[in-house]
Amino acid sequence: MDFSFLPTLVIVVVLLLMASFVISRVFRAEMKCNRCQGTGEVNEHWPDPSEPSGFHHVEGACPKCKGRGKVPVK
Ligand SMILES: [Zn+2]
Repeated sequence: MDFSFLPTLVIVVVLLLMASFVISRVFRAEMKCNRCQGTGEVNEHWPDPSEPSGFHHVEGACPKCKGRGKVPVK
């Protein structure tokens, strides 16, 4: 049995995996997050109907895009 082709095969597979990874990163469709308007940060207040004078408050990294400012298009 001749296994001299194995290193070449491994290199080809690794290159294919890297290429598909890069392509998926570059061409993955993303759109601006509509919750933080692409900033990745939110500072939201809105009334809480369950409490007479209650307010919801979300500040900091956007919970929708995890602070990235972009969300993948489904
Ligand atoms: Zn966001």
